[in-house]
Amino acid sequence: MSEPIRADLDAIPLYVPGKAAPDALKLSSNEVPYGPLPGVVDAITATATEVHRYPDLAATALTQRLSERLAVGPERIATGTGSVALIGHLMQALASPGSEVVYSWRSFEAYPIAATVAGLTSVQVPNAPDHRHDLHAMAKAVGPDTRAIVVCSPNNPTGPVATADELDELFDSVPESVLIVIDEAYREFVTDPASPDALERYGDRPNAVVFRTFSKAWGLAGLRVGYMVASPEVAAAVRKCVIPFAVNVAAQSAALAALDAEEEMRRRVALVVAERERTIAAAREIMPGIPDSQANFFWLPLAGGAVDFAAHCQRLGILVRPFAGDGVRVTFGRPEDNDRMLEALRSFSPTNES
Ligand SMILES: *Cc1c(COP(=O)(O)O)cnc(C)c1O
Repeated sequence: MSEPIRADLDAIPLYVPGKAAPDALKLSSNEVPYGPLPGVVDAITATATEVHRYPDLAATALTQRLSERLAVGPERIATGTGSVALIGHLMQALASPGSEVVYSWRSFEAYPIAATVAGLTSVQVPNAPDHRHDLHAMAKAVGPDTRAIVVCSPNNPTGPVATADELDELFDSVPESVLIVIDEAYREFVTDPASPDALERYGDRPNAVVFRTFSKAWGLAGLRVGYMVASPEVAAAVRKCVIPFAVNVAAQSAALAALDAEEEMRRRVALVVAERERTIAAAREIMPGIPDSQANFFWLPLAGGAVDFAAHCQRLGILVRPFAGDGVRVTFGRPEDNDRMLEALRSFSPTNES
């Protein structure tokens, strides 16, 4: 081939969009099923007459609001088009020839892609048999070329959290020159007191980096807005990598409106948490080995049956997220949605399918 394309991009799988199924029950993308929070639609509508103008480059009002809310200086915050984009920008800011990033596997699919695109080498550390991060093994995987360790807590797609004890030990065992990145995309859903708010507990450590998003509990997945909190130096480096005017006018305005609706967000999260407990308990009666989840999804360790189960669900009009040969991630929906999914699990027998 004579195209001038980097050979290492061959390792990145092409994105294959799911089959279009407009009437299907979508339990595949970890969205909250209750629509935008109150005030959000009005806030977006009000920006319609401003769309001939560029947005506020620094997302000043949103950054200020987050700064007050999180009690960290605005110089420590970076905003971007979803936290996925910011994770990529952080990796770009860290990459130099031969440098590495350590993360668990299986974890968030965006990590290997972001690392490869940035030019960082991925060091993947297998999860423990109970589908939790093995933070000891992750600390041991740190070498002279390691720039960052990424801890996804709760872990997408398996569900468990890292505990305060485990994270304390990680911070104490890794040199300060290695960033400890904690991806808290699902923080709002966490109820386990053993799992710390990473910003509260580690926010004053110079090598702590925390990612959060408006896509999940705050219901703004379609507008793409997330943020990162880090030391002023790391935040400044990431802001240099962010595409100019990344967070658009509607997204800035909607994020502020969502923050005004925190009480309703909490109410919806409580509904999801109640369904999480009920659904996992019911699923465990059908299938052994389901790990705990502190997120708005859970993991079915179906191994070789993962793709068959997703196909079985699809025939029943339900979309779930299979990871071939490994398991299936299922997002919690409304109670009746979860009942349908449990029925699909009950009627699934791997040997009779496909
Ligand atoms: C959904 C998710 C994100 C956030 O993605 P956005 O780009 O903010 O929509 C980040 N990390 C993990 C682990 C996620 O599952």
